[in-house]
Amino acid sequence: MSAFTNITVSEQFIELCQAQLVLLAQNLSAQKSAIYLTENFVNSPPKLVPILIYPASNSENNSALRLSESINNEDFNLDWYEQTSNNLSQLIRYNKDQISPHQLILPLIYQDNMMGFLATNRSIEPWQKRDILQVEEVAKTISLARFLDQRSQIAEQKIQQNYQLQIIQNEHLDDFLHQLRNPLTAIRTFAKLLLKRLIPEDKNYSIAQNILREGDRLKDLIQDFSEDWEVVNSNYCLDLPDIESTSFFLTESIQKKESIDIYQLIKPLIDGITTLAKEKNITVINHIESDLPIIFSNAKALREIFNNLLDNAIKYTPEGGVLALEVMVQKQDQNIEQLVIEISDTGYGIPHQDQGHIFERRYRGVQAQSDIEGTGLGLAIVKELCDKLNIKIEIFSPSLWLKNQANNGTTFSLFIPLK
Ligand code: ATP
Ligand code: MG
Repeated sequence: MSAFTNITVSEQFIELCQAQLVLLAQNLSAQKSAIYLTENFVNSPPKLVPILIYPASNSENNSALRLSESINNEDFNLDWYEQTSNNLSQLIRYNKDQISPHQLILPLIYQDNMMGFLATNRSIEPWQKRDILQVEEVAKTISLARFLDQRSQIAEQKIQQNYQLQIIQNEHLDDFLHQLRNPLTAIRTFAKLLLKRLIPEDKNYSIAQNILREGDRLKDLIQDFSEDWEVVNSNYCLDLPDIESTSFFLTESIQKKESIDIYQLIKPLIDGITTLAKEKNITVINHIESDLPIIFSNAKALREIFNNLLDNAIKYTPEGGVLALEVMVQKQDQNIEQLVIEISDTGYGIPHQDQGHIFERRYRGVQAQSDIEGTGLGLAIVKELCDKLNIKIEIFSPSLWLKNQANNGTTFSLFIPLK
């Protein structure tokens, strides 16, 4: 494709035009011919853009055609076109009045659409009627080719748009499945805990059993669907770069910010994670105070961020480890303050070579080889949400706080701007 200002033409269209202009020179002794296309603007008259000239005026090889950004507009007097604007009948009449016997300027029209001009000069002898008929045929061929070229460009654009849409939809579904799994795992763990605490004779025992059974069912359904979905997705083979993905659950609503008491938001999440941590004999140390400044952000997105980071901390920390939560207000330059939230664990840590990639979709680094299940989507969602909320996120492994452990551990730090 070649682009002239806002006009895009395919290589094939240029080739066809070249062949037609050579034809005019060879069969009708045209000395100079040019093709101009119209560039349409919303609020101003269309402009003429030269696309091709033959022979090229200052080309070393006179028979060589070149794309003519540098066409000398004085070769053909098209000023009258600017004056007649877009009025086709007026334009053609004007053309007839202005034309010299040696110069032909024919509009390129297809289905009442004015697409440009074919201009051709012959100073050795004036154009005869039968010659004009032939030039008109050439103009018709170019017009049809331009119409088809435009149509295929529109079709190509639509295909690209559909591809992009499809990719975004696929990513949304991936994210959705991922986000469903986490609360489901928590519900199943809570149901198991409940069963442990109840004696079989308790009238609520069967209710807890039912919760667990339905949870297992839902887990299997999601698992089956994910496997099928992965096969369909890999067959689809959509491989377009530079697609801006957006988490499915917060595309619009993330713009809605509200005043948030961060303690009230995190507290229930910590309570939930503490129960789950107990199952793995992991100690949760909570250094979050209740009198923190109010932040202006999106609560739903923040919960997703914390849940993913806490879930990882538990998942990648072996039995008997520690998970610590630290929240502090930090002064930056010019008295601007930020809230820093640190989630640290005594887990396996993240090797240096993985640290630059873990926010990429589906990247699992060393854990891809482990028995720990995962899709590699959690942190990609976290990063996307952080970017939207203007929150900086950093990884430190070895962990910042929990030193002297058998494993390196990890700290994820979130920097939330305060007003
Ligand atoms: P899921 O999509 O189910 O969350 P996942 O946990 O593998 O799967 P991410 O949450 O995106 O995916 O994490 C990406 C990778 O980063 C993990 O596979 C793991 O290698 C590494 N990682 C993330 N958090 C930690 C952590 N706290 N300790 C050690 N490694 C971690
Ligand atoms: Mg994860």
